[in-house]
Amino acid sequence: MVDSYGRSITYLRLSVTELCNLRCKYCMPEDGVCKKSHADMLSEEEMIDAVRAAASLGVKKLRITGGEPLVKRNILSICRRAAAVEGIEEVCLTTNGILLPELAKPLREAGVKRVNLSLDTLNPEKYHDITRCGALDDALRGLEAALSAGFKRVKLNTVLIGGFNDDEITELAGLTLRYPVDVRFIELMPMTDSERFGQDAYLPCDAVLEKLPELQAQGKDGVSRLYRLPHAQGNVGLISPVSAHFCKTCDRLRLTADGKLKPCLHAPDACSIKGLTQEEMAARMQEAILAKPARHADLSAEHRSQAGRGMYQIGG
Ligand code: SAM
Ligand code: SF4
Repeated sequence: MVDSYGRSITYLRLSVTELCNLRCKYCMPEDGVCKKSHADMLSEEEMIDAVRAAASLGVKKLRITGGEPLVKRNILSICRRAAAVEGIEEVCLTTNGILLPELAKPLREAGVKRVNLSLDTLNPEKYHDITRCGALDDALRGLEAALSAGFKRVKLNTVLIGGFNDDEITELAGLTLRYPVDVRFIELMPMTDSERFGQDAYLPCDAVLEKLPELQAQGKDGVSRLYRLPHAQGNVGLISPVSAHFCKTCDRLRLTADGKLKPCLHAPDACSIKGLTQEEMAARMQEAILAKPARHADLSAEHRSQAGRGMYQIGG
């Protein structure tokens, strides 16, 4: 379906849970999630109906996210059923990777085509600090498991944070020399509930180009500007939602784990599809797509997202 600004909406990001086994400082409050009642969250049946409704409107690509999607008890069943929905050409998943050693192979067998892993640092103490509880070795074991399970075009998502990991740009980009992966630097977004970072934390992605002048431009892949280090096995991607938003080409619709449709990541919730039939869901989605704004307001440390939720409650 085409929205009011001529953008074709072909991509649904489905958050399957608000729960997580980490507590990243930029994503989640320190005391974690205020657990909502089970009855307030979408059931597996409703999630699959929503995927069918979205596919009936022309959505072809599905990304399963969260919270941490791999802590969801029925994640394999959700992936398997979503991948079988007519019209869905690709199911991808974004994860912190901690549970991939057990789940990488079953996810592939369930029809997940690609996985993105989040990794902000290669220093164990800093990893524990930014995630408030995680162990770097677990995340690296998750990466190895994804590669051994045969996932291709694995992407590592690194939130670029001034004063935290800008001194590791060379090392993190260097992962593309060691592994057949893309490393994507993503600008920190000032979300509603995350710990307040100072102005210096909001580094534009161009800092990566300044640090690595040997990067060679490779064109674009969706919202990512691609570069490559000489002799690398994968690309370095730069995703700049703050310094150069990509609203003009935005092809996404989001559905939160509690059933709220979000036509824009940074806009307040649009409407709920909880408790609706598949046809009613499709009608709500049509309304949401038509209500998709031309663009979101500029973001900065002072001008925070209007999302009204933390990223773990939206599905980043
Ligand atoms: N738990 C999974 C993970 O960490 O990959 C999936 C959900 S997480 C919300 C999805 C992505 O959003 C992660 O790559 C994370 O780094 C990113 N993210 C969360 N908060 C962010 C923020 N304030 N700015 C930029 N990216 C953010
Ligand atoms: Fe959990 Fe992912 Fe948010 Fe980190 S970024 S707290 S892993 S949902």
